[in-house]
Amino acid sequence: MVLDDLGSSLRGSLDKLRGKSRLSEEDVDEIVKEIQRSLLQADVDVSLVMDLSDSIRQRALEEEPPGGTSARDHVLRIVYEELVALVGESTDLPLEEQTILLAGLQGSGKTTTAAKMAWWFSKKGLRPAVIQTDTFRPGAYDQARQMAERAEVDFYGDPDEEDPVEIARKGLAETADADIRIVDTSGRSGLNEALIEELEAIEEYVDPDRNLLVLDAAIGQGAKDQAKAFGDAVGIDGVVITKLDGTAKGGGALAAVDQTDSTIAFLGTGEEVQDIERFEPSGFISRLLGMGDLKQLAERVERAMAETGDEDEDWDPEEMLQGEFTLKDMRKQMNAMNKMGPLSQVMDMIPGLGGNLMDQLPDDAMDVTQERMGSFEVIMDSMTDEEMENPRSVGKSRIERIARGSGRPEEDVRELLEQHRMMARMMKQFQGMGDSDMERMMKQMQKGGGGGGMGGMGGMGGGGGGPFG
Ligand code: GDP
Ligand code: MG
Repeated sequence: MVLDDLGSSLRGSLDKLRGKSRLSEEDVDEIVKEIQRSLLQADVDVSLVMDLSDSIRQRALEEEPPGGTSARDHVLRIVYEELVALVGESTDLPLEEQTILLAGLQGSGKTTTAAKMAWWFSKKGLRPAVIQTDTFRPGAYDQARQMAERAEVDFYGDPDEEDPVEIARKGLAETADADIRIVDTSGRSGLNEALIEELEAIEEYVDPDRNLLVLDAAIGQGAKDQAKAFGDAVGIDGVVITKLDGTAKGGGALAAVDQTDSTIAFLGTGEEVQDIERFEPSGFISRLLGMGDLKQLAERVERAMAETGDEDEDWDPEEMLQGEFTLKDMRKQMNAMNKMGPLSQVMDMIPGLGGNLMDQLPDDAMDVTQERMGSFEVIMDSMTDEEMENPRSVGKSRIERIARGSGRPEEDVRELLEQHRMMARMMKQFQGMGDSDMERMMKQMQKGGGGGGMGGMGGMGGGGGGPFG
């Protein structure tokens, strides 16, 4: 994730302020240094870093914290506001008919992004189509067609046509029924005249409503030159940062945004069509600072619920809270979780759970959990209906049989049963709660008070409107 290191190192220095009511100049200097170091490591442009740290320093020293605010919360709030200002607004993308052109170097993730964006718009109730104009890269047509298929959106391309503008012309005509037309273009391994000329020709013909520049998060300082070249050629309205699921720092993208005077539109977080997020500055920074992002979380839950509902008409989360919690319920819950994306990403969005807690876990802890869920699935496949309904009845000999049937060690079967017992106990507790208890808990969660990570920062988890209004 972009600036991930910033999140953890910053939380570290902020924690040193705990219990202090007044900030000394040394405190501020230390924090500003920490911020500078992290931003530079994340490949953020030097001049941007200096601007940002100057204003944080000045505000932290000059502004009077509102009554009752601790020194830590005062600084955290200023850092939050300045970082939100640094990443800027999200690219304006009205949910209405439009044509979007994607530009970028080869391998930056254009074709993948085209399908992801189409998928995203389709989930918003619009009808998208992908038009593939890449005649340069062998296999580009097949790749785009397959991705569009996975996203379940309309597609136009022509593997036998050599002129990209001609493909664009036919594509626009063929997809006239679509609301959103996403025009994917070819790239080159580096910036060169052929690429820019081809892009200009397509852009001139298509006359898109928006041009988005697709940048690999690993781009680093080179982002500035790329952004300039593409910006000069066709004008850039927004940037898509891809591969944020990897180890890349992504800070270069901030320079690109600065350079083209544009904004960030989407973030790509994986190779599947669902691995896309609309960029939301406040939620993004909240998550970065370990304050969760309830808006993203809510979107994912909603999507996962809708999808789970498709396959399994009779699954009702409310119902699960009544009656006995069986292994079937557990499996449904696991499926819903899986649809929400990698656990590590989901955890990051939960106020109080992300941030501090994630920092304490070894990097691969979450993958192991994902692996374990896969193993649980295999084991459950080897269980009878009766065992799934009554996991408590599964004794030693059945454990042996299930282990043999699933090809998993008995230990794993026991672990699954133990996990189920734990979850069932938790469900019992939920059942014992009245509605008002539940409401209180949700409110508490929204305040970010849940895991204690955010201490007194009431309200910062709100991904939506900006917590300080
Ligand atoms: P293009 O040449 O700009 O069209 O780039 P592609 O869409 O073909 O992507 C290049 C490679 O990057 C492919 O292997 C994609 O699967 C991969 N890729 C694209 N976006 C992401 C992302 O957000 N995360 C990860 N992990 N891989 C991605
Ligand atoms: Mg491509």
